[in-house]
Amino acid sequence: MATIIQERLAEVKNRLPEEVRLVAISKYHPASAILEAYDAGQRIFGESRVQELQDKQQCLPADIEWHFIGHLQSNKVKYIAPYVSLIHAVDSFRLLEEINHRAQRAETERLSRGLSPKIRVLLQLHVAQEETKFGFTPEECKAFLDSAPWRQLEHVEIAGIMCMASFTDNAEQIAQEFAQAEAFFKMAKQRYFADAPSFCECSWGMSDDYLIAIEHGSTLVRVGSYIFGPRNYA
Ligand SMILES: *Cc1c(COP(=O)(O)O)cnc(C)c1O
Repeated sequence: MATIIQERLAEVKNRLPEEVRLVAISKYHPASAILEAYDAGQRIFGESRVQELQDKQQCLPADIEWHFIGHLQSNKVKYIAPYVSLIHAVDSFRLLEEINHRAQRAETERLSRGLSPKIRVLLQLHVAQEETKFGFTPEECKAFLDSAPWRQLEHVEIAGIMCMASFTDNAEQIAQEFAQAEAFFKMAKQRYFADAPSFCECSWGMSDDYLIAIEHGSTLVRVGSYIFGPRNYA
């Protein structure tokens, strides 16, 4: 019999169009919860704290595709570089450079795990109304793509854009923010990545807004509490 986690997982997956992948956000939930989803076929999991990801990665199946979704401090990149598949929230050249450096150093280990030697990353775009110190504004992101020497970093691959919508019940506002991110993605693809098919990911949509996100170009939805239940922050 399916567990509650497995039922919720199936429910979300059934609502996703074929081209949209689910990142099951397992932060603050135990490895046993991840295994329930794993046993139902889920392979992509997202975590937001380095130590927690380390602990889980070490005890869980090797074919899990780990995504790092939170704010990543430069001094912690080295811990996850050997096994991480996608880093969702890059918002500075300094962080990108450090990921590049650590990808280079972890190349042998990444290859031995069957991973791409390049670490794929997404640029975090700030489209929500809340004040936050994380993420590029669209203007900053454009300036970054125009002027930062990111093309010289050979061990990272900018694979798309990530954003979070405002924390609100206003579906229209959320839709507008995702539409803004989608327009930015399309502009960036045309202007900076025209010959790079690897620039293809739009990471938006969480438990409360993933159905809106898939109407606005999302290719990766990050759903946590709807599948795993409320988080215990204690
Ligand atoms: C926690 C988190 C999620 C998942 O949020 P839910 O509302 O539990 O689905 C998605 N994205 C990011 C960046 C997060 O930190």
